[in-house]
Amino acid sequence: MKRAIAASLSFAAVLWLATPDTLVGRAADDVERLVAAMLRDTPLEEDLAALTDRVGGRPTGSPANLRAVDWALEAFHEAGVAAKKEPFAMPARWLERSAAAEVGGDVAFTPRVAAMPFSADTPAGGLAAPLVDGGRGSDQDLQRLGTAAKGAWVLVETSELRNLEDLFADYAEATAIEGRFLPADVAGMVYMGSRASGLLYRHNASRGPDNTHPLIVMQREDAARALRLLRGGARVSLTARLDVDAGGAYESYNVVGEIRGGERANEVVVIGAHLDSWDLGTGALDNGCNVAAVIDVARQMARLGITPRRTIRFALFNGEEQGLVGSWGYTIAHAAEMDGHVMASSYDIGSGRITGFFTNGRPDLVPLVERALQPIEGLGPFEQIDAPIVGTDNFDFMIEGVPNLVANQASANYGPNYHARSDTFDKVDLAQLRLNAAVAAAVTLGFANMDERLPRHSRAQIEALMDTSDLDDQMKAMGVWKDWESGKRGRRRK
Ligand SMILES: [Zn+2]
Repeated sequence: MKRAIAASLSFAAVLWLATPDTLVGRAADDVERLVAAMLRDTPLEEDLAALTDRVGGRPTGSPANLRAVDWALEAFHEAGVAAKKEPFAMPARWLERSAAAEVGGDVAFTPRVAAMPFSADTPAGGLAAPLVDGGRGSDQDLQRLGTAAKGAWVLVETSELRNLEDLFADYAEATAIEGRFLPADVAGMVYMGSRASGLLYRHNASRGPDNTHPLIVMQREDAARALRLLRGGARVSLTARLDVDAGGAYESYNVVGEIRGGERANEVVVIGAHLDSWDLGTGALDNGCNVAAVIDVARQMARLGITPRRTIRFALFNGEEQGLVGSWGYTIAHAAEMDGHVMASSYDIGSGRITGFFTNGRPDLVPLVERALQPIEGLGPFEQIDAPIVGTDNFDFMIEGVPNLVANQASANYGPNYHARSDTFDKVDLAQLRLNAAVAAAVTLGFANMDERLPRHSRAQIEALMDTSDLDDQMKAMGVWKDWESGKRGRRRK
């Protein structure tokens, strides 16, 4: 808390020095008042505690997720902000009920395991098969195994994950490994956990609901022991029992708060964070902290009686972890208003310092972001990166051609706790979260009030971005390419 207070004291000086030429009169005054309020004592911490400690881990499709929806709706209403539950279709249900495994053969022990999202289940008595050394999961490893891969559990060694870059590499590698080994008729894949000290986590598999194989993460130390045994010539088998609650399509809900614009009510600025989480931890860094921040921005705007020129929507998306589904659902539900969407932003990288924004293949967004950041330059420095990012709720806005932002954040402790049992309230840097919420407030209100707006991109312009960037590769890795290619998802040709 000390850091937040220090920041708010120096903040008045920052504003004084940076009196913006471009934001004049009441609009500039409103940003100043809003940011000052965000930096004071607000219920940000209490909200985060309620969502993580009381509601808990909340995978979409679980009872806890429905409690989170009710909680968020109530939080907006208590803040005096109009809000509603917006239904959308989740394509498939997946929840882990339990996961257990036993190593057998020459040596017996009980490794700790977690099912990967959309893993197939096993027979109730378990699926027993030889455990084989899959090396790093390369083509050469597959060739070396030859016919031994068939019908076996393939154990793949991983590097230890320390930061965000390692996390991205983890995903890219796993996607390639699945593409290689699953068609080779393996019984299932077992990834050595990439986090030390027994930490289990849910690593999203690339095929989503289309996956038909059991997929497991095994505690790093247990997996290393099994690999040493295999490499020492021991005979090793694995019996895994995965009980999952899998099923067909069902209805879920986004929670969307709204403050209507006073002048251009049909033009919409979205500030978003996802309400769902995985369930080993309580979804604090991913993404309870940013949910609390979005609610706090709405609350302080309502409390101060600020009327933005454009309408602001405070979107708490659901189904993000299971395929960015809620934000997709939002673009379907609001298809008729998509032309009026001026900017959609996502906050989803924990509580490390906001270092700037990804502008997602819209270089024309950069000067507008910088103008919106000007009143809070004392909270910087900020740097914009114009590269398309696939992996959070900006995605469907991007492929709808809507200008979109993702807050870029210092990696901090996000990577090691990502989707893990350790993603709990105590990992959140509350002082930094408060500063980040102030940044989010300034950017949101800045876009809602500025004179300019950027045009929506056509399908041809979105395709051009795919030709000139790795957007298509990222979409394949996230399992969302086929929906775009088939025309199910994204902007249609007009
Ligand atoms: Zn997230």
